[in-house]
Amino acid sequence: MADKFDVIVIGAGPGGYVAAIRAAQLGLKTACVEKWVNKEGKTVHGGTCLNVGCIPSKSLLETSHKFVEARDEYGDLGINVSDVSMDIEKMMARKDKVVSQLTGGISGLFKANGVTSIEGTGRLLKDRKVEVTGHDGESQTYEAENVVIATGSVPVDIPPAPMTEDLIVDSSGALEFQEVPKRLGVIGAGVIGLELGSVWRRLGSEVTMLEALDTFLPVVDEQISKETYKQLTKQGLNIRLGARVTGSEVRDNEVVVKYTDSDGEQEQTFDKLIVCVGRRPYTENLLGDGTGVELDERGFIQVDDVCQTKAPGVYAIGDVVRGPMLAHKGSEEGVMVADIIHGEKAEMNYEAIPSVIYTAPEVAWVGRSEQQAKKDGFDVKTGVFPFSASGRAMANNATEGMVKVVTDASTDRVLGVHIIGQHAGELIAEAVIAMEFGSSAEDLALTCFAHPTLSEAVHEAALAVDGHAIHMANRKKKR
Ligand code: FAD
Ligand code: AMP
Repeated sequence: MADKFDVIVIGAGPGGYVAAIRAAQLGLKTACVEKWVNKEGKTVHGGTCLNVGCIPSKSLLETSHKFVEARDEYGDLGINVSDVSMDIEKMMARKDKVVSQLTGGISGLFKANGVTSIEGTGRLLKDRKVEVTGHDGESQTYEAENVVIATGSVPVDIPPAPMTEDLIVDSSGALEFQEVPKRLGVIGAGVIGLELGSVWRRLGSEVTMLEALDTFLPVVDEQISKETYKQLTKQGLNIRLGARVTGSEVRDNEVVVKYTDSDGEQEQTFDKLIVCVGRRPYTENLLGDGTGVELDERGFIQVDDVCQTKAPGVYAIGDVVRGPMLAHKGSEEGVMVADIIHGEKAEMNYEAIPSVIYTAPEVAWVGRSEQQAKKDGFDVKTGVFPFSASGRAMANNATEGMVKVVTDASTDRVLGVHIIGQHAGELIAEAVIAMEFGSSAEDLALTCFAHPTLSEAVHEAALAVDGHAIHMANRKKKR
């Protein structure tokens, strides 16, 4: 038997690496097991988020957005540029550099904080023992007082569109295209599909998105999702709702996709197809006999409100457990669990987890949509302020979108905030803080916001809840 640890974390994504660093900072003897190896065969930390998720996708989104701005919008600002063109190889090299800087950074943080890094695939055995099989096939077993499972998730694949070497790919493959596909198909118009579709649309692909549901972005407030649909289709994303993919075939280096919609059976040919139909928890070969850890019917590890599994001393966090599959949600759970292991009382507020879609404009929200709040039985009052009435948005040449504040009419408490607009992903943070502090719309309305900033739109939307927005012709507010 090898070393004994206070805490062994399995998986070094944003859930696991944060849990490990926090635990070590609290003085616990901590190890983190990671199996991910990069193209050079080197173990890398950071998981999906850093390697094939949040970070590389945002790098490509930023580059492609700057390209479109330079090509299509600089002229309006009086900046004359000509012959704007893309160097895809350079764009990808920069993305890879950002990824390797960050993954290397996590390894550095492990060293600095005294986290023992164990390379290989971890398997939980009975009584909190963890067997690790190294890349050389050799196994070693470690003992721990506490184990944190943070093994994350992997893309769902669907039988009608099985992956191929390079024509039918998942989100990871779509971050690696070496040239712009002329005709690009995307199955699934969820968050990841919209972001990846946007990247390649901006770079020149004709993008068709096939979405089985009739409703666009059902998790988003209806008013905001309608505006998002309008803005994204205006940019050339061809989003077909009610289109269920039933089959695909590779012919002569092309992909022929079959789908059904309200007009019956359809067929369309693409140069590349991205399958973005969701992610599933990853627990393959993770649990030995008699661990006591249980999975739910969808394959997630069952945990209580503080991420404790059915086995004492074994916790699970991040994408492998219930809740939104978001990096920051996993990280917060990681901090909470490390604190609990250290003997502190810790909890998480699952009502105030922000979500962001990094399209242009960005879409961001926290808390309940108007529809959800009504469903939950609240008497709802809302305030909306459009960016077209914001001085800063005008100065920024970014007047699309709005801020919407959803409140409980009887208490004025903020139940949700929904934004589509430039930097919505940054603006949402102030709404998260407001909700975390149990703020009312009046609290926000009485707060001083810097001028001229986009955040004034949040202020105005809060004022609009009672019909008092200053820079808008308010209609007498009726419930
Ligand atoms: P992961 O990041 O999946 O990490 C799990 C780690 O565990 C991996 O490194 C894996 O190798 C390791 N592992 C698994 N099993 C074992 C084992 N048995 N032994 C050892 N190691 C193991 N979220 C956001 O919040 N914002 C975004 O903008 C965003 N963009 C995204 C874009 C894309 C294209 C994708 C695919 C995802 C995106 N996400 C985003 C989601 C985000 O990446 C995940 O929610 C997040 O990575 C989950 O963190 P995690 O730590 O639970 O798991
Ligand atoms: P998300 O869960 O946000 O990643 O989004 C995945 C999307 O893929 C969902 O909106 C699903 O409705 C959609 N989807 C799943 N299967 C299919 C299919 N066979 N054809 C088209 N869309 C699909």
